Amino acid sequence: MFLKILGGGQEVGRAAYLVIDKNKYFLLDYGVNFDEEDHPQFPLHVRPIDLSGIAITHAHLDHIGAAPLLYITGKPPLYVTKPTLDIGKLLINDFLKLNAYYVDYDIGEFETMATKAKFMEYGVEEEAGEFTLLFTDAGHILGSSMIYLETPSGHRILYTGDVNTIQTWTLNRAQLWPIKIDTLIIESTYGSTKHPPRHMSEKRLIDAIEEVIDSGGTVLIPAFSVGRTQEVMCLVQAELPHVNIYVDGMSRDITNIYLKYKNFLRDPAMFQKAVENTFFIRGWSDRRKAWKTPSVIISSAGMLKGGPSVYYLKKISDNPKNAVFLVSYQAPNSPGHILLEKGKLEELGIEEMRARLEWFDLSSHAGKDGLLSIMLRYKHVLKNIVIIHGEPESTTKLASMAREALGKDINIYTPSNGEEIKLEA
Ligand SMILES: [Zn+2]
Ligand SMILES: [Zn+2]
Repeated sequence: MFLKILGGGQEVGRAAYLVIDKNKYFLLDYGVNFDEEDHPQFPLHVRPIDLSGIAITHAHLDHIGAAPLLYITGKPPLYVTKPTLDIGKLLINDFLKLNAYYVDYDIGEFETMATKAKFMEYGVEEEAGEFTLLFTDAGHILGSSMIYLETPSGHRILYTGDVNTIQTWTLNRAQLWPIKIDTLIIESTYGSTKHPPRHMSEKRLIDAIEEVIDSGGTVLIPAFSVGRTQEVMCLVQAELPHVNIYVDGMSRDITNIYLKYKNFLRDPAMFQKAVENTFFIRGWSDRRKAWKTPSVIISSAGMLKGGPSVYYLKKISDNPKNAVFLVSYQAPNSPGHILLEKGKLEELGIEEMRARLEWFDLSSHAGKDGLLSIMLRYKHVLKNIVIIHGEPESTTKLASMAREALGKDINIYTPSNGEEIKLEA
């Protein structure tokens, strides 16, 4: 059995892993990445006609964003959860609006892809040609999945996709299936990072919000519209029920998808209640009112790359009573990162940030301990570990930690894009 890394080798983004066994091909994810100018970068090519199928772990663009390319000339079966396809459609629409010039497909190819979808339920096996598939909850965003794949020769793979090993407000923790696996393909976004305990980050955030609100200020929380917004909404609603919560950006449509697929949520009743007590901004007159009263405004974009969060930032950053609390990953050179580093953001005309500014770790990815716990769970049966979806430093550190914890009998790989690895069961 061979594994070819088409993307996501030694990098975070454009996940694309091709499993080749007995001349049959199966593709795990097909995502995009963005270069320094924010232009999309695609994974290596694969012939759609060769594929027994493609399985997508979740709706983030770095896992689904290139998949419609396969439907320009082909029609491979698509294995996916319902929320992944719904959220994916919103994100791809948005992606095409900004990048149509650089992308070879349009929404028509997404629609063709949708007609080939076989919807997966967690824990229910599905045949894909000579491959067998099983999805379990990955705990990362709504509908996110880990994929267990058995190849034609009986080689068993677990591909984690993006995974979170702790329970959060909206989702259950990743669910490991009690079966024998030969090869683990594991993400390493935070392969060298130890997250602080979640309850401590949350307490810090809640205490900080309370201080600002009590002194009559407004809190802006720039957040990704998928996942982080809903997390923060539930947290604030549960801990500070008297505080007004506004949500702005694409998050309203995404929240509706969360409501549509309640069975994928950890606690549907709690989520419903949080939504009922949240005010969703519908236009400019709402927007102009929201920041003038003490309240929490959760708004996209999470790294302050455009979106309504930029409008609020400009309105509230002058007043030391107010606060901006960043709760999402801030990529190097993103406006959020620059603001944290320099305390100003000239590109948006913010010469000096007077509002309180802090960053909180509410990651939806497992840290190094969580990743190691997945490896340890399968320690006695595993033959190979392939570490992907991480910066070189992350993958290397996770690999050496794994070697120390698991001993020499397990082969550990940190492949680059274009590499093809031969894997023995
Ligand atoms: Zn993701
Ligand atoms: Zn990812």
